Amino acid sequence: MNNQPQSELQQLRDQLQALMDAARLNEKKWRRLDQFEKQLIATRTLPDLIRLVLEDYKTACETDVVTLVLCDPEYEIRRILERAQPDCAEIPGLVLLEKLPLHDAEPAPYLGLFDAEMGRAIFDPWPVACRSMLLLPLMRQGEQVGSLNMASSTVDRFSADSSTDFVERLANIFSICLENALNHERLNLIGLTDPLTGIFNRRYLETRCQEEIANVRRYRTPLCAMFLDIDKFKRINDTYGHIMGDEVLRTVASLIKSELRSNDVLARYGGEEFVVLLPQTGQHHACEIAERIRCTIAAHPFRIDGRNELRVTISIGVSQAAAEPEGSDLDIAHKLLVTADEALYLAKETGRNKVVSEQTRPPMVVAKRSLIKMLGFGSV
Ligand code: GH3
Ligand code: MG
Ligand code: MG
Repeated sequence: MNNQPQSELQQLRDQLQALMDAARLNEKKWRRLDQFEKQLIATRTLPDLIRLVLEDYKTACETDVVTLVLCDPEYEIRRILERAQPDCAEIPGLVLLEKLPLHDAEPAPYLGLFDAEMGRAIFDPWPVACRSMLLLPLMRQGEQVGSLNMASSTVDRFSADSSTDFVERLANIFSICLENALNHERLNLIGLTDPLTGIFNRRYLETRCQEEIANVRRYRTPLCAMFLDIDKFKRINDTYGHIMGDEVLRTVASLIKSELRSNDVLARYGGEEFVVLLPQTGQHHACEIAERIRCTIAAHPFRIDGRNELRVTISIGVSQAAAEPEGSDLDIAHKLLVTADEALYLAKETGRNKVVSEQTRPPMVVAKRSLIKMLGFGSV
């Protein structure tokens, strides 16, 4: 009997089986990626999106290391992450670069042996014992905005002959989600910042102040507030015009900011009034910071034209939240600002260009200020 047709048949069976196995594996892969894509699309904020890719994707694609490189020339992403989590801005696996390496040709995915030279800037922390890697360029509107990178201890996990369709699709979806999240953050920021000075507005301050009061309760750390008001600002407007007045406001805001730490909060409360929140700061230290701000502004030469300079001064009131506050976060936040404003009022009453704290004001002036507020003439 001739065995040839039998063995050919067996060969065909084996081929068919191999194709079916590959199809099943692809289907499994596709389902996993489909699930992951749905999660990506449902994620709104930038920190959540970055975490999803770095943490969940590692599990979803069964690889040892996933890192994300993003181009952040104006430190926009860095600032968004710092604002979202002031104590923990560093996300392991996220590499923010001011500039991406230049390519001669259109950037293309790389799959193959782990290349230590290529991976040096991309893998941080450095992956131990990786033998193959995949680098996927992230593109938006024809420009590379970053790369999604994976490394594996298995040599054939990422090999040059594997198909990149799945991961390229994922990279495209991730790039779109990244742009959406950035736009979402930008829109949020527009609603919370003051267009003239670029610092936070009153709306943001009021919400943030309540959050900080909640932290006082939770962690029993001190919190101080400063109310700052430019002295005789109306005269500056009347003498030099509104455009010069606006310039003075912008400069004063940036001078105040230059004296603060990154987790302090600076907001324009209205007109020529600013508020600073100083988390984890007691009143004595807050008064030192206020004094430093006052001196910096008083010493700054504001330019009017090529020849003349203008001196500007500021009065500051300082208050501290009670260590174990009673009442709602809203009431305590309100009280903190009212008390700082009362101290500011005293600074104005007693000559301007000075710092007055809640502890140094006499009760008589407070009573007078409270009466003015009750009658509805106050600014708070
Ligand atoms: P005091 O020392 O008592 O604080 O006196 P002041 O003149 O600073 O206070 P007053 O409240 O009388 O005047 C504040 C002025 O600030 C009046 C208003 O025209 C001006 N102002 C408010 N917002 C803006 C702004 O966005 N740009 C400019 N240029 N001026 C503004
Ligand atoms: Mg004022
Ligand atoms: Mg003023």
